[in-house]
Amino acid sequence: MQPMICGKCGYDLRGLPERGGCPECGNTYDKNNFSGIAKPDNIYRKSETIAFWLKILTLVFGGIVIMGCSGVLSLFAVNPQKPLITGGVICCMMMLIAIAMITLKWIEDREE
Ligand SMILES: [Zn+2]
Repeated sequence: MQPMICGKCGYDLRGLPERGGCPECGNTYDKNNFSGIAKPDNIYRKSETIAFWLKILTLVFGGIVIMGCSGVLSLFAVNPQKPLITGGVICCMMMLIAIAMITLKWIEDREE
């Protein structure tokens, strides 16, 4: 059974009638259309999704910043190819990790 808590005060509504008032705060709820009900599952999943995309953003922006830094370094380096290749490889690896993470998440979501 899905965990269901009052959308107002967080009282556990499991075992209570399909619809009615929260015994704790009087908030009216309806389990059939989830009005007045907060689903902890969804709240958890939402923050999890935000955290996931923040990680992806960090990887992508990190890769761009590293690529930019190596570009600047190559202007001053004796051998300009060295920092460019190193930065390019690190940047590509970070992009690949980001793509792999998105793919894994996509597969995970599809399985549900
Ligand atoms: Zn309540």
